[in-house]
Amino acid sequence: MKNIFFYFLLILFLSGCNSLTPSKSVVADPDFSNENIKAVLYMQKAAEYRALCYQTFNSAQIMLDNYLRRMKVSKPYAIVVDIDETVLDNSPHAAQSILDATLYPVGWAAWIGQASARAIPGAVEFLSYADRQGVTVFYISNRKEEFRNPTLQNLKLAGFPGVKEETVLLRHDGNGKEPRREKVGQTHEIIMLFGDNMNDFLPDFEQVPPAVRRALTDQYRNEFGRRFFVLPNPSYGDWEGALYDYNHSLTAREKAEAKRKHLVGFKTE
Ligand SMILES: [Mg+2]
Repeated sequence: MKNIFFYFLLILFLSGCNSLTPSKSVVADPDFSNENIKAVLYMQKAAEYRALCYQTFNSAQIMLDNYLRRMKVSKPYAIVVDIDETVLDNSPHAAQSILDATLYPVGWAAWIGQASARAIPGAVEFLSYADRQGVTVFYISNRKEEFRNPTLQNLKLAGFPGVKEETVLLRHDGNGKEPRREKVGQTHEIIMLFGDNMNDFLPDFEQVPPAVRRALTDQYRNEFGRRFFVLPNPSYGDWEGALYDYNHSLTAREKAEAKRKHLVGFKTE
């Protein structure tokens, strides 16, 4: 009887251990769980980060006034914005991932479900100004359709203008945003685009290496601050994915090793 009780306890203990052991894919390598700490603290605590956001939206307002002074075009004006890290701040999710040593997408659905993301500094004021001038704001995001309700709720709670079913275009098939931009372009003249990722502006940047991304940016240099407005995001994005060839299945250690190889020092050996 004693033996049976012992084995019962043992099985209970082992099954408990099993359920407490998260799978490899969701737990950051302890050596790399702090990999994102500087970037996330920069976004949450640096005055400079906020200043960059204000700088972007303040400059955009000057450009918008320029557009509005121009002659009228046949189609109504639209502004296209990305959502994550362009108008909504998801840094609490990134911070929680560091604290819990977990990796995206762990906790992402729970975070989105809370609909409690705060607005990126300056975004509500600028977009409300544009809305008052009769410019339609379209929110083009790669959030999945399953997050539609909390996304609309969050945008409305944060005070964003013109948040409706038809102005929030989420991901259906594929990450590419160009088909959604073209759809908006059929009815509206897109005068400005806002994003934290180059793919928010042009399809050319999709899945290309870092050097090509930089060369394309040089090629389109005249668009920045005029039609394209970039928000800072040192925490994640295709700038980072490009460093490890967009192979998101790599472990944290493998990604860190790949990233390290891109560092440009000054000593020659
Ligand atoms: Mg984004």
